[in-house]
Amino acid sequence: MKVELCEDAQELNFLITRMKDLLVDYMQQSRQSDGLLVDYKEPDELERIMDFSLPDQGVGPEGIFPTITQTLQYNVNTFSPRFMDKLYAGSSPIGVMAELLLAGLNGNSHVYHVSPVFTLMEVHVTRALAKLFGFQGDRAGGLSCPGGSASNQLAMITARNALFPEIKRHGYFPRPPTKLLQELEREGYRPYFGPAAESSTYGKLVAFTSIAGHYSLEKSAVIAGLGTENIVGVPCDSFGALVPSELERLIQEHIALGHTPFFINVTAGTTVLGAFDPIRPCAEIAKKYNCWLHVDGSWGGCTIFVPELAKTLLDGSELADSLTVNPHKMLQTSLQCSLLLVQDTSIFPRANALKANYLFHGQTHDLGDGTLGCGRRSDAVKLFLGWRYYGKLGYQARIEKSLSNVNRFLELLAQDDFRGQRIQMLRLGSDDDDDDDDDVDVVDVNDVRRGGRDKTKPSLLQICFWYRPRASRLIDWRGTEQIWREESVEQQQETLSSTTVDHDTSLEKSAALSPSLSAASLASSVSVQSSESSMSSAPGTPILTTISMHSKATRAATTEAATATTTTTTTTTTTTTTRDYGVILTDPQEREEAKAWMERVTKAIHARIRARGKFMIDYAPLGACLPIFFRVVLNPPTIRELDLVQLVEEILECGEAVADMVPIPKCCRAF
Ligand SMILES: *Cc1c(COP(=O)(O)O)cnc(C)c1O
Repeated sequence: MKVELCEDAQELNFLITRMKDLLVDYMQQSRQSDGLLVDYKEPDELERIMDFSLPDQGVGPEGIFPTITQTLQYNVNTFSPRFMDKLYAGSSPIGVMAELLLAGLNGNSHVYHVSPVFTLMEVHVTRALAKLFGFQGDRAGGLSCPGGSASNQLAMITARNALFPEIKRHGYFPRPPTKLLQELEREGYRPYFGPAAESSTYGKLVAFTSIAGHYSLEKSAVIAGLGTENIVGVPCDSFGALVPSELERLIQEHIALGHTPFFINVTAGTTVLGAFDPIRPCAEIAKKYNCWLHVDGSWGGCTIFVPELAKTLLDGSELADSLTVNPHKMLQTSLQCSLLLVQDTSIFPRANALKANYLFHGQTHDLGDGTLGCGRRSDAVKLFLGWRYYGKLGYQARIEKSLSNVNRFLELLAQDDFRGQRIQMLRLGSDDDDDDDDDVDVVDVNDVRRGGRDKTKPSLLQICFWYRPRASRLIDWRGTEQIWREESVEQQQETLSSTTVDHDTSLEKSAALSPSLSAASLASSVSVQSSESSMSSAPGTPILTTISMHSKATRAATTEAATATTTTTTTTTTTTTTRDYGVILTDPQEREEAKAWMERVTKAIHARIRARGKFMIDYAPLGACLPIFFRVVLNPPTIRELDLVQLVEEILECGEAVADMVPIPKCCRAF
């Protein structure tokens, strides 16, 4: 006997069947090589095309579909392997289905008894993931949060409340800074700051993260009432990874001021470059100074599924007090899925629970009690189902596929000498850090490891480069010491004096006077130029023998000559290096001009690529002295060779098309 469907079931059946066809078709479209992933419209245009008004009379099941079809048309098809704009990309089929399950059940994971299965899935998947990171205890596990920023925020507040439980109740009243007290006393005042501050066990709380860390740490400080000034930016090495000795130095400085360092954030996979801060040495420092060690692995944390990588990139993860990981980025679970893992999950209710006993009746599986919220989406379910579906090895294979795409893309770019150097890779650091001597920039996935690896290559799935217009000359933009050390000029002076390059220092001195060019970058550029100029006169002459202050014109000429020589000497075996990173613009004004021009070029190409709708890539800035550069994220494992080949063509085509529209400043013109 056929059971008559209830009204809602009938309606759902109609909607979901129609939607299923649309979605399957949408997924199919995303893989067509001539298909578009966006029909991009500016907001006012889109307002004209679509109807965003809200009616008094509902449109009903039939009437809703025109809106849905238009949404599919004008929103971005992130299922496309050509969506390379962001760290997240389209979901996987099981990701969509898991989301459908969540939508279908509409369960709330604050208390166990309204979502028993979802709750246990969250408990089990966070426990399993925590174990992968090496968290040992029986109570290792975590919570899902609405995004990486929210996970970082929960980490900071949990840390603060765990270390200083009184703040939860009394509010935040730090002891006044030592220096202020001393000054007041010297002036004969007997300051009184109120009972809370007088009896405070802590000074002004300060947290540490690298200057390449994510801004959510600062947001967390805003929310926690600590203030952004108290998130201390730790300098990075030339490749964007935190320098532990700098971390310790800054901690000591703050202690001397009477402040209380309490939280260290280590980024595993920075947002722009994908750099990994070294966890282990930071963990030692955290222990020494009684700080909470948090690892922000929002982006790079998922490399835990690739043991070969994790062994080095995530070395020391087992020492973290808390760790954020976003499966919605590298594992293609649907947005959002972010987890905060800890060594002992009982810390969450201890640090954050209030006495909301109308909701929480003492069941330890009531996960909501440990959060800063109330009702919560069961996002962990998506990782649970995805993990069951693909297995740990399946996830590993997917990430490895993306890593091999990075290799392949770099090979493609390197072909024909980076298309006659139209494509200029973002280079950071100096030749001293370059430990391979072939002139093809190819990253070896198996070689991505701290120490032995070539740090001039991408650490993860981001590829950064510029397009160089044909009639311009190649400009060496390195100046990374400056970028990473912007905030500590004194430190930079030290680097300057310790540079052990044997040459006329007048060039460095002028660089030191120039606000936009660092001595360290000059030192490296000088070595490049000298090798090349010596190449043109006496092949095989050791680098760094006869370097003197060139005038701008002679240096330019030398470089041009070197470029010419490079092409003829690449086949000989006499050269120490055949790399040409271009001319250094030492004049600050010229450098500014060049930077502004390059930024216009990059933005024009970016706009054109987006308007054409075949690819989506983004650009990013890095420090004050580099022009913005393209950042392509090869995250979707669905990216095919064809997509990579066509991406190179797309960049070159759009580059050719816009280059003439942006006049080249004199200092950047080819001779
Ligand atoms: C993406 C990212 C975040 C923020 O994650 P959301 O889920 O977007 O809030 C935090 N830290 C790092 C390093 C990231 O890359």
